[in-house]
Amino acid sequence: MAHVLVVGGGIAGDTLALLLERDGWTVTVAEIAPALRTGGQTVDLRGDSREVLESAGLLRQALACLVPQRGAAWIDAQGRHLAEMPVEAFGGRGYVSREELLRTDLARVIHEAAGPGVTHRFGETVDALEDTGTGVLARFRSGTEETYDLVVGADGAHSRVRALRFGPEEDYRKPLGLAHAWFTLTEQPGTPPLDGWFLIHNAPGRRGVEARPGHPGEQEIGLTFAADGLPPRHDREARFALLERTFAGVGWRTAEFLAAARQADDFALDTYDQVHMPRWHTGRTVLLGDSAWCASPLSGLGTALALRGAAELAAALRAAGAPGDTAGVPAALTAFERTMRPRTASAQQLPPGRVVSMAPKSALGIRVNALAMRALQSKAARPLVNRALAASEHGRTPAPAAASQTGAGV
Ligand SMILES: Cc1cc2nc3c(=O)[nH]c(=O)nc-3n(C[C@H](O)[C@H](O)[C@H](O)COP(=O)(O)OP(=O)(O)OC[C@H]3O[C@@H](n4cnc5c(N)ncnc54)[C@H](O)[C@@H]3O)c2cc1C
Repeated sequence: MAHVLVVGGGIAGDTLALLLERDGWTVTVAEIAPALRTGGQTVDLRGDSREVLESAGLLRQALACLVPQRGAAWIDAQGRHLAEMPVEAFGGRGYVSREELLRTDLARVIHEAAGPGVTHRFGETVDALEDTGTGVLARFRSGTEETYDLVVGADGAHSRVRALRFGPEEDYRKPLGLAHAWFTLTEQPGTPPLDGWFLIHNAPGRRGVEARPGHPGEQEIGLTFAADGLPPRHDREARFALLERTFAGVGWRTAEFLAAARQADDFALDTYDQVHMPRWHTGRTVLLGDSAWCASPLSGLGTALALRGAAELAAALRAAGAPGDTAGVPAALTAFERTMRPRTASAQQLPPGRVVSMAPKSALGIRVNALAMRALQSKAARPLVNRALAASEHGRTPAPAAASQTGAGV
């Protein structure tokens, strides 16, 4: 029986595991976390995500987890709405959609669909990968080793498989200049409700504070800021201290969020980066998802690309006759790469102003952003925006990217 090793049991890895198992592969997933990784904010089900989940028979389960939302609102330091974009904007193709669920729930739906042919090895990773010509020998951190017909690196933007087989992260990482911290806040008596709004408060100096609806009784918090001088990943205390310095005096509920960050068990902080690679496969090792093409959360397409990539990789392997005949695996990896390249290249082209609009530099930039957000939805601008959306490959992601083009740099 053909045996595939998938390193990383996130959205891309677990989706591929599920699809390959259905095709008859024996699948091992090595996931470094001790259990299924939870955490993350809402991801949306438009476009590729919906299509792939539907064809995998998982759409109903995903739709059962939707987070009710009214839209996005840009607010001032007192919490007053400066601009709103309801979920109905642009025929449902606006900044926030009706069909969003927490990444945690999507990961769980996919994970739970795996059959008995998928073995998850939690708390595990690879220390070495060696091409044998007809397979890949994997040495695991736990000390065991095994040869596989195919190894897939679905281990995220900081991929270890990429480092082992393609070289150091710095060779492929394109930093976008911003960092983002995110975590879940548990509502207490007196916590201001969000009433379904995804609230965004920007302060001068490239600082953004967000709160969006999560599970009942929870709010998903995000803090965006300039990525200069980030302490190392293991130094949590230094990272909290940096957040507290950066967001001191920002207003709205920021002080409450800074205190909650320290209590949250899903607190995470990372830079907004892209990954650009000239090639995603070598021999019988291939990268999938953020490890290969991270477009950054600013693209809004990370999950959609992960799901689509898993479906395309499974289809290419099937077309090459695998798992019955694994001789065609290298050719299948080439075919997979040819199919996915145009999609990922397009997703990585962030609209001008997208990065700046997440965290404008000045009070003027913040005002222009809010004004642009309202102007975009005016009767006069709507047909133009709708035409642009219809013409764009992904059919969404208008604001604040498009809106903020006028505010870029201020
Ligand atoms: C906990 C979490 C929260 C996230 N929250 C958001 C969010 O709010 N918004 C957003 O846009 N994107 C978020 N992302 C990223 C988003 O999931 C991805 O952009 C997208 O789904 C692509 O999926 P992926 O499977 O390629 O990567 P990921 O979803 O990042 O999955 C990678 C998996 O590989 C595992 N892994 C990492 N290193 C190793 C290793 N050395 N060995 C074995 N396993 C390893 C990770 O633990 C993870 O389970 C989050 C990712 C994670 C892991």
